[in-house]
Amino acid sequence: MSHTDPIAAKVNELIRAQDPEIAGLMASEAERQAFTLELIASENHVSRAVMHAMGSCLTNKYAEGYPGARYYGGCEFHDRVETIAIERAKQLFGCKFANVQPHSGAQANMGAFMATMSPGDTFASLVLKDGGHLSHGMKINFSGVFYRPVHYPLHYDRSHPEFERIDYDACERVCTEHRPKVLLCGYSAYPRVIDFARFRAIADRCGALLVADIAHIAGLVAAGVHPSPFPHAHVVTTTTHKTLRGPRGGLILTNDEELAKKINKALFPGVQGGPLMHIIAAKAVAFGEALRREFRDYAGRVVANAKALAAALAERGYRITSGGTDNHLMLVDLRPKNADLTGQDAEDWLGRAGMVCNKNGIPEDPRPPKFTSGVRLGTPAVTTRGLGVAEMTRIADWIDRVLTSGGSDGVARQVRAEVRALCEQFPMPG
Ligand SMILES: *Cc1c(COP(=O)(O)O)cnc(C)c1O
Repeated sequence: MSHTDPIAAKVNELIRAQDPEIAGLMASEAERQAFTLELIASENHVSRAVMHAMGSCLTNKYAEGYPGARYYGGCEFHDRVETIAIERAKQLFGCKFANVQPHSGAQANMGAFMATMSPGDTFASLVLKDGGHLSHGMKINFSGVFYRPVHYPLHYDRSHPEFERIDYDACERVCTEHRPKVLLCGYSAYPRVIDFARFRAIADRCGALLVADIAHIAGLVAAGVHPSPFPHAHVVTTTTHKTLRGPRGGLILTNDEELAKKINKALFPGVQGGPLMHIIAAKAVAFGEALRREFRDYAGRVVANAKALAAALAERGYRITSGGTDNHLMLVDLRPKNADLTGQDAEDWLGRAGMVCNKNGIPEDPRPPKFTSGVRLGTPAVTTRGLGVAEMTRIADWIDRVLTSGGSDGVARQVRAEVRALCEQFPMPG
């Protein structure tokens, strides 16, 4: 049985009685998660408490507005739930104001942008294909449709000691030239520490507000294993479902009371209608978990595992961009090992072998995003399952066996069986 959680198994039975088609697919997905290794850097496995807070009666309620100032009756318990979520978020990130209502990270960014810019205003973000997020200025995203993005680069010169890391001097030149309203830092595929103080200095010199989108590293920041964007950033946005290991959702933080008011107005009624109160309850539960000592240990192990996996892959002839990782993820350049292997093939082959990851462009990737020359690997989910440094070496071996097999079905099958055996030793938390 794929459900190690008896409540989830019972719930599946209940759904099956009414809707066997969806219940069957949900059970298949539970099984897929239980018997594969989740190496997608933006994913994680939530606890049972977080899972079941989401699947609760709180979804039945409209609670437009904020605690104490709602547009609907019957919100007394929702007010308390949301207030607890806010208080825990503030404690977790050491800041004065939190908005826990964004439905997602992209919506958190939309709220932050609306609070800090007018349509047509300029903001600066990293060159998107080198690690940015689509909400950081992609042409067809709201951020590129309603605002004017300009981009700062990484260091692309191989001989530079900061090769493939943020080029802060170039960032300052871009900001001096374009005078953006907002300087945006924080990324989706950047394996190194972000120097928030340095970004703030640049923002101050060119009259910009600093917005830090810590969607990927929020759990590491909360646990103190990555430096905090506070007190440097004016506004911090994040998801709650990546390293933070909460429900799928977003969060906006600030220390500035005026900005906090603008953010609250921008998000509701500016961007969203009613908040997802079941998700906010699950956020409160997840923040409670992240405030515990065990979460610090967890985040430390996430980073140790990422470093171990990166080192083991490098030993096997793969190039890790920027030479390694400081956080939970790495970008693997496949070309030194096999010039013809694309990220797309690697993703497919590894998937067939039970290791789920995503193709990802590497800095200055000559291949288009549909193929890429790299894969992105992350350790948050496998660390949640309890895998440690010893298992990272086994994963590196499996990855290497699969990628050197030329896509052999036999090798994929063999590795998949070994992956499954490991998964049985490290059951899912939910
Ligand atoms: C994942 C991510 C987001 C958005 O998250 P969604 O919840 O998918 O909207 C925003 N910014 C960055 C940097 C991310 O990595």
